[in-house]
Amino acid sequence: MSSKKRVCIIGAGMAGLTALKNTLEHDLAAVAYERHTAVGGTWIYMERKAGESEEDVHSSMYQGLHTNLPKELMGFPDYDFDTNIEESFISSELVLEYLQNYAEHFKLTPHIKLEHEIIRVRPRNEGWEVIVHDLKSDKYFVEFFDFVLVCNGHFTTPMYPATEGLDSYQGQRLHSHLYRTPDIFKGHNVLVIGGGPSGIDIVHHIHQHAEHVYFSHHLETEPRTDFMPNVTQKTDIQRFTADGAIFKDESSASFSFVIFCTGYKYTFPFLSVDCGLNVDVNWVHPLYKHCLNINKPSMAMIGLPHQICPAQLFDLQVRFVLAYFAGRKELPSRADMLAEMETDMQERWASGVSKRVAHKMGVKQFDYYEDLAVTAGITKLKPVIGKMMKACSKKYIFELDTYRQKRFKVVDDENFVQIV
Ligand code: FAD
Repeated sequence: MSSKKRVCIIGAGMAGLTALKNTLEHDLAAVAYERHTAVGGTWIYMERKAGESEEDVHSSMYQGLHTNLPKELMGFPDYDFDTNIEESFISSELVLEYLQNYAEHFKLTPHIKLEHEIIRVRPRNEGWEVIVHDLKSDKYFVEFFDFVLVCNGHFTTPMYPATEGLDSYQGQRLHSHLYRTPDIFKGHNVLVIGGGPSGIDIVHHIHQHAEHVYFSHHLETEPRTDFMPNVTQKTDIQRFTADGAIFKDESSASFSFVIFCTGYKYTFPFLSVDCGLNVDVNWVHPLYKHCLNINKPSMAMIGLPHQICPAQLFDLQVRFVLAYFAGRKELPSRADMLAEMETDMQERWASGVSKRVAHKMGVKQFDYYEDLAVTAGITKLKPVIGKMMKACSKKYIFELDTYRQKRFKVVDDENFVQIV
């Protein structure tokens, strides 16, 4: 038996694949468990089956989705998208193909166990006991690992706001997690709640089918919707009525469908209570630099931060924690890690950040990337990534009608050009 230390990777989406690739490159042994029949996570589009519950639906991907970041930002640092693809804002199918090619290119497949669900992770001696459910044979088995990388994704468990009167509302409702195609809204007045990327994109997708779309959000600056004449922007909801809602500005609307684009809950149903982590709304703690479990630093959560450049961040977080797992770097004391987290969180709470978005980065992301790289002494993100991220910032809100026609080209590690 190999004497290499063993890493358990939970999930084989974008985060799990880069976790696996980097772990193997650190000369550690690794197994990635994926409960679905294929790798790719979010990027796998599946039609809804009759009777399927929210929990049964694998991914929140919908038909016709094109990325909200250009492909020049969507890839990992060491593997480019096919250069024959001309457009920058690409279909979900092309992202999925990219992830599958990445797995093949880096020979990850032998280390991935598909249709294997992790149902329990608990500390055992110096490492971890992991209970795995082989979904094909319906058998359970136990494995032992030295390290755990949690890459289970955070866009599949719907979060609903508590809104007065929702029980009295008689129309149909669904969460963006279950939205697939726009045709079902033909002839309906529809309310879309939530001004995040999904809310805005779904308004754009459905307006040509629906009779009228009401778009309720609290974005500080209203997105442009004048090119969609049947869309009316609304404030937050005050209360639902039997056939519609009254909004905070006292206006009202009638509709027969509501789509909740109100975000997702972070859930880790497989973590036992003694794993050393608490999940308070969407705040996972105590974590060193939003990823390493301070109480049990042989476990890390990859991909909690949002408003970031996902593939680049996942790869960076993985390389960060592996510097410690592989023994190349020594962690600060527990007290120092806790103190750093405390200072960071106090600043976040003071600036109005809620637990729901506790790991939000936004404009802080560039300092965060720098901090991870400098602290662990690992390769930094290329400067061109930060420059392109800044050029794309919030374009999906304010240039919804045109921004996906743009094309970018990376010139070198520092520079890019916008060619259209
Ligand atoms: P996931 O892709 O969710 O993968 C997690 C994997 O873990 C899944 O395959 C799941 O089956 C598996 N898993 C979970 N629990 C277990 C378990 N217990 N045992 C075994 N396996 C398990 N990002 C962008 O950069 N650009 C975009 O344009 C963009 N568009 C998006 C559109 C939508 C509709 C959504 C929902 C997200 C979008 N994102 C986008 C964000 C996207 O989710 C991330 O880019 C990235 O794909 C997340 O990867 P992940 O590996 O963290 O999670």
